[in-house]
Amino acid sequence: MELRDPLRKLVGGATAKVLADSLGLHTVGDLLRHYPRRYATRGELTDLSSLRLDEHVTVLAEIRRARTRPIRSSPHRRNREILEVVVTDGRGELDLAFFAKTQYHRRQLLPGRRGLFAGKVGAYRGRRQLAHPDYELLPEESVTGDEEAVAQAALAFMDKIIPVYPATARLQSWQIRKCVAMGLDMVSEVRDPVPADIRQRHGLIALPDAFERIHRPKTTQDYVQARKRFAWEEAFVLQVELARRRARTRRLAAVPRDDRPDGLRAAFDARLPFTLTGGQVAVAAEITTELAEHYPMHRLLQGEVGSGKTVVALRAMLTVVDSGGQAALLAPTEVLAQQHYRSITELLGPLGKGGQLGAADNATRVALLTGSQRVAAKRGELLDILTGDAGIVIGTHALLEEHVQFFDLGLVVVDEQHRFGVEQRAQLTDKADKPPHLLVMTATPIPRTVAMTVFGDLDVSTLVELPAGRAQIATHIVPVLEKPAYLDRTWQRLREEVASGHQAYVVCPRIGDGADAEEGDADDAPADLLDGTERRPPLAVLDIATMLTDGPLADLRVEVLHGRLPADAKDNLMRGFASGEVDVLVATTVIEVGVDVPNATTMVIMDADRFGVAQLHQLRGRVGRGTAPGLCLLVTEAAPQTPARERLDAIAATTDGFELSRLDLEQRREGDVLGAAQAGRRSSLRILTVLRDEEVIRVAREEATTLVDDDPDLGRHPDLATAISDLVDADQAGFIEKT
Ligand code: ADP
Ligand code: MG
Repeated sequence: MELRDPLRKLVGGATAKVLADSLGLHTVGDLLRHYPRRYATRGELTDLSSLRLDEHVTVLAEIRRARTRPIRSSPHRRNREILEVVVTDGRGELDLAFFAKTQYHRRQLLPGRRGLFAGKVGAYRGRRQLAHPDYELLPEESVTGDEEAVAQAALAFMDKIIPVYPATARLQSWQIRKCVAMGLDMVSEVRDPVPADIRQRHGLIALPDAFERIHRPKTTQDYVQARKRFAWEEAFVLQVELARRRARTRRLAAVPRDDRPDGLRAAFDARLPFTLTGGQVAVAAEITTELAEHYPMHRLLQGEVGSGKTVVALRAMLTVVDSGGQAALLAPTEVLAQQHYRSITELLGPLGKGGQLGAADNATRVALLTGSQRVAAKRGELLDILTGDAGIVIGTHALLEEHVQFFDLGLVVVDEQHRFGVEQRAQLTDKADKPPHLLVMTATPIPRTVAMTVFGDLDVSTLVELPAGRAQIATHIVPVLEKPAYLDRTWQRLREEVASGHQAYVVCPRIGDGADAEEGDADDAPADLLDGTERRPPLAVLDIATMLTDGPLADLRVEVLHGRLPADAKDNLMRGFASGEVDVLVATTVIEVGVDVPNATTMVIMDADRFGVAQLHQLRGRVGRGTAPGLCLLVTEAAPQTPARERLDAIAATTDGFELSRLDLEQRREGDVLGAAQAGRRSSLRILTVLRDEEVIRVAREEATTLVDDDPDLGRHPDLATAISDLVDADQAGFIEKT
């Protein structure tokens, strides 16, 4: 039998259907890759106090006592009985109740025997109970011989390792184990996707051996080695696919965009009011080199909010304009597109006033294209984009529309990439005659190995340092339940900031205009917020704004900003806030990304515990962008020592985005990180965890790159090629497509 054979061949149609329906396993290979979730040893009973109500559990326990007692039923029916069994882990107890075949079960479930018991944890008369559980008793050890031999055998027996599988109500762990055992015994052809020389270099066991040891370990060492091998394989196969994508990109023909020492880029550098940071210079040099290549650049530029990514991107755009091409900047929201337009035209000054009075000689034009523009304005912009008069084009999704045509699109810059899907990116790059260069910017710092996995076909640059002279942000928690007076103090503090000429944000999780599905009540909200417990609705912008203008901020200029305002109203508000006509902006997370008002120094976040770590970090990056220090106050009702409060403590304790993104990733399920958590879909990563296995990923990536350089079509590695096509099939909607 082979790994690709259907399970029906191994276990018969009925069981195969259950395996397919409840666990998504279709082939023998799928089954062998359904790894144990954990291992139990016979001598080590499950801690019964750890069982949680309503969970489906598999416990290893010892039977303490069993008794049957009659239950009264109607006089016309035969009296029935119930079998009550008590099992123990040596300390606590768990009740089992059987209502049918009680005599039969009673004969099986003898005191002193050990077994695996599976079922849903319920409660009856204040005790935990499994009602008619499934069970499998462990075989009794009967050893004869001298005392020494008996003791030895008893020890060996106690040490025996029992794999516990991810199970379902329809299929218990031990039933899965039996199917797996059949698979292990029947499979004769196992092709290993990891080449032998690589296995040898990294001390990895071969695939058949690894299957045996992960499913039927004799010692702990067995499954440790097996897991190491499988983690390695997962990393390796994925990295080979990503290396192939990078190689494929390199075979595409792009228009090289050589840097000119006498063009707009040089003129721009000369008029910059500051010097670039070391990081900016280094990344800029990388980009300059890559733009001049004959294949398209595919680069991810990550850096803290305010680390100066936009300036770096603008230089790249000017290089492309200097070589006769155009550059497009795609922004996720109208507010951001507008803001980019304002700051870029300002940074360019006369260099961006092409066709206007007072323009520089070789000036270009900056076009803006958004959904809310009037038809006439749009038509003018479209024409400039088509003729190439606009060298730089900034826009929202409106840029992706079919009628938007470029004269010569040479560079696509995508801001805040996580808001765009692959298809959208492709819609824009497809507008170029030849594949354009691509620069993706993200302010959500991702640990390097995650970037290597999630954005694996992009090269990664990171801006670590912030421009000098940037003020610090102090973050404090305002625990309103413990210290109600702190909230008054918060508004007082905000008034002081305004009195000294600064501005402030007040952020709420919800709009509160009656429409549901609130923005910002985020899809990346931490898991402990989604446990279904009853809580009051999150605080709303409209309510808080009213409360503030009626009370503590009555004499200040307070305005409201949220995603459901018309686009021009939003833009006017942002413009008003930027020019200092508004003191306090009460807003949802629309202000999250990229908004840049250096005079805003204070941010109060209401119901801060309702936001995710990454989001809070992004939000507070809106203040302290000027020279005055920033202040961020996290208002929360979360009690100390709860996960929600610990998350806030972590944010208050550090401004290191990488550290926080790590925390964020740890708190979410890894599948979510990879975008693979959708209903029951199995991720190709089962054992590998992107955070813990950094070193594995790094080494596997090196091996993968070498192998692909050497054998790009994998002609000499057919088993690896098969594994990769399986991966790509399985992952069609998954994360490796996300880049
Ligand atoms: P990001 O896009 O990474 O959030 P920006 O490029 O918008 O950051 O830069 C944030 C602010 O810092 C802008 O006002 C920008 O002009 C300014 N800035 C960028 N680079 C420097 C630098 N090297 N020195 C001083 N200020 C800088
Ligand atoms: Mg930015």
